[in-house]
Amino acid sequence: MSLILSRALYDDLRTHGEEIYPNECCGILLGRSDSGGIHVTSLLRAGNTRTDSAHNRYHIAPEELIAAQRQARNSGLDIVGFYHSHPDHPAQWSKTDFAEAHWFGCTYVITAVAKGKAELTNSFLLSGTTEEDKRFEAQPIVVE
Ligand SMILES: [Zn+2]
Repeated sequence: MSLILSRALYDDLRTHGEEIYPNECCGILLGRSDSGGIHVTSLLRAGNTRTDSAHNRYHIAPEELIAAQRQARNSGLDIVGFYHSHPDHPAQWSKTDFAEAHWFGCTYVITAVAKGKAELTNSFLLSGTTEEDKRFEAQPIVVE
């Protein structure tokens, strides 16, 4: 199961991380899933509502999530994933990322931003069906 997106969208989510550095950026991925993979067709930048520790925590406000769901539905799309940045940390999910991930079948994209420059971007598919058996699976990113 690959994550498939255009060069423009890929650049956009990476640039977002550079713009928000040294804080974490976050956003929502809209698109469609099929047997060929998860196709991202647009992304929505979200405000980082964590004020206590915005450099290493991200949170998407419920009202932003609801607005995103509405926008997706109106366009015949789904929320297919989320992205955020790791300022001066590797593009690997943290314990907090895992604990706060609840959207099974969705992708979680993480971009490492070192000294303000986007480096590696990784994608992880949240697999499983319950909080007990959930797991992140590394997922190839196809930029086309
Ligand atoms: Zn994270």
